[in-house]
Amino acid sequence: MPRNPRYDILFEPVRIGPKLAKNRFFQVPHASGMTNAAPHVRAAFRETKAEGGWGVVCTGACSIDPSSDDSPFPFATLWDEADVRAHAVMTEGVHRHGALAGVELWHGGAAALNRTTRFAPLSPSGVPWMATHVGFMSAARPKPMDRDDIKALVGWHRDAAVRAERAGFDILYVYAGMGYLPHQFLLPDYNQRTDEYGGSVRNRVRLVEELIDTVREASGGRCAVALRISLQELRARKSDTAPSEAHEVIACLKDAPDLFDVKMDYSAQDCSASRFTPEASHEPVIEFVKTITDKPVVGVGRFTSPDTMVGQIKRGILDFIGGARPSIADPFLPAKIDEGREADIRECIGCNICISSWHDGVWVRCTQNPTAGEEWRRGWHPEKVRRDSEGRVLVVGGGPAGLESALTLARRGFEVSVADRQRQFGGRLVWETSLPGLKTWFRVAEYRLGQLRQMPNVTLYPESDLGVQDVLDFGAEHVVVATGARWLDTLCQANELPGGKAAGPRIYTPEDLKAGFVPEGPVAVFDFDNYYLGTAVAEDLSAKGCAVTYITTAGAASAWSFMTNEQPLIHQALMRRGITLRTLEIVTAFDGETLLLAQIFSGERHELAVRSLVIVGQRAGGSALYDALHAADLKAAGITSVRLAGDAHAPGAIAHAVYHGHKTARELGLPASAIHVGRDAPFAPRDFMALQAAQ
Ligand code: ADP
Ligand code: SF4
Repeated sequence: MPRNPRYDILFEPVRIGPKLAKNRFFQVPHASGMTNAAPHVRAAFRETKAEGGWGVVCTGACSIDPSSDDSPFPFATLWDEADVRAHAVMTEGVHRHGALAGVELWHGGAAALNRTTRFAPLSPSGVPWMATHVGFMSAARPKPMDRDDIKALVGWHRDAAVRAERAGFDILYVYAGMGYLPHQFLLPDYNQRTDEYGGSVRNRVRLVEELIDTVREASGGRCAVALRISLQELRARKSDTAPSEAHEVIACLKDAPDLFDVKMDYSAQDCSASRFTPEASHEPVIEFVKTITDKPVVGVGRFTSPDTMVGQIKRGILDFIGGARPSIADPFLPAKIDEGREADIRECIGCNICISSWHDGVWVRCTQNPTAGEEWRRGWHPEKVRRDSEGRVLVVGGGPAGLESALTLARRGFEVSVADRQRQFGGRLVWETSLPGLKTWFRVAEYRLGQLRQMPNVTLYPESDLGVQDVLDFGAEHVVVATGARWLDTLCQANELPGGKAAGPRIYTPEDLKAGFVPEGPVAVFDFDNYYLGTAVAEDLSAKGCAVTYITTAGAASAWSFMTNEQPLIHQALMRRGITLRTLEIVTAFDGETLLLAQIFSGERHELAVRSLVIVGQRAGGSALYDALHAADLKAAGITSVRLAGDAHAPGAIAHAVYHGHKTARELGLPASAIHVGRDAPFAPRDFMALQAAQ
């Protein structure tokens, strides 16, 4: 299909200093969890985006010196020649598709605690970076940088820039954002220096200016130099001469870099979840930058709508549409717009499972795109699936796992039927996405249903509750059972192992709420699942008029959502709604009037007067249908395989169900010998040693 002319503006080439980007789609630097230990995994992940049409594709933060060591978080390095080779694999891949490759030169300063290299963290003036004692605890406190340290920092940037050019990068980033060292110099609470690098805005900007000049010089002006800068706190700071300190800073730097990459300050706001933050949420902080500088500006905002993107360009907010999460969820987003296939975009749902991967220290994974991070290891492409099969498959269950299985099986060439007992496909998403803030997550079902409905080899059967005989009579050669998991009404012990079954009136689980039941208030929600559902249920019941007390075994509400950047916003939401929060407690009994609670460490008992109890605790997978099929005469029915997929296989997050559904479909009918799992390896350190010896 031809491209909609409304979107032509997104495909205009834009100059960035000495380089020309072929369009306005810019994959900004973002964490991938892929260090130099997995150069081919990383290269394939980034190359796929270049293949999908992104005009610029960047690395994540790349440490320029061992004094910037982010462990235990995964981080890339650009310290030596072995690192140059590791990055060159990525730049070659990106260049193959006519995209520019960018590298983010990173020094974390006081925010990098150097746990492995054991250097003292560096800082402008010895003030600890707040994340170091709030989130990522350490007893280490940073060293105030003296003039030699500043000189060394400039030198590390120079050396890293030289290596980066040798590795094939086109755009070299100076990174003054997200609380890392050059950003710390910009903020007066952290930078308490009294020399020419502290005090006035002019002085605080000096280091960033020097770094930009150094990086430009190091590449002899052949590479473009980008400045990534966080503007949130600066924007909130009053200025005597401008609307804010952010305006002053940008005015000082307006001619320095070839490109501005502008953003918020901290991960939870910069990369905030859709549960609380809409698309284009950065605009109120960064919208002024283009009024001050003539250099091109890139910014993010979880952009998935081409109309919003066009609006950002036409209204003069941005020159480039920055994408991190949208490029993970759909590496082919630009190509789809270019080909007039907007309806095929697999839109990011803003769940931040991708961020949790980085916090977990592993390669990026994505709820919407199960192939993310598996491009090289398993050879999975996000759009192309080898057509290698025919025959009939029956998928029982149309939740995330069933729909993803069905789509991938249909792409492989199977004749696919999907049956679900509900009228609406989407499984758990149907109810869960009706809870406050979670509507965007329904895109997981929407995208897959949109694709399946276009495919001639797919039939959807809603309102079809299948028993074992129905499946045997269906005439399919393969059966995928993706019937989901169910919430249990068991309590838990202080050590969070399963407790006894709750006994008493008005005790409910999410299964009851899903069926439309609204409990009598006041309600206690007891959460030991500790991801999003407990607090989403509490919010929902509160919105429906119940007085709600939320009780958790953990130290904070929705404890695991710390990993997805949602937790601070969840706490704010509970407070906004007047929901009482009780932590580190278990429910021991409920008689319909009084809830008995015990503190998990001391055993101290409390009583709470409530009318209903909702338990958001354990889920059980498994499937009676699957078990019955195994006991049946499959051969007589012509069935050669029965597979259990998604939550029925092992209950987890939606991301787990989609991934498992995809994997099940990729592997169905193949012998084990045909399933490829590559094992990446770093470039051997001996290469580096040999090089040093030769110098
Ligand atoms: P997952 O996350 O693994 O995809 P879900 O719970 O979201 O699991 O979806 C499972 C779906 O399976 C639900 O929509 C449910 O209605 C459907 N289902 C369960 N048992 C049957 C059955 N016997 N026949 C048809 N559909 C079923
Ligand atoms: Fe978007 Fe979620 Fe995928 Fe991250 S994991 S890219 S937030 S869909």
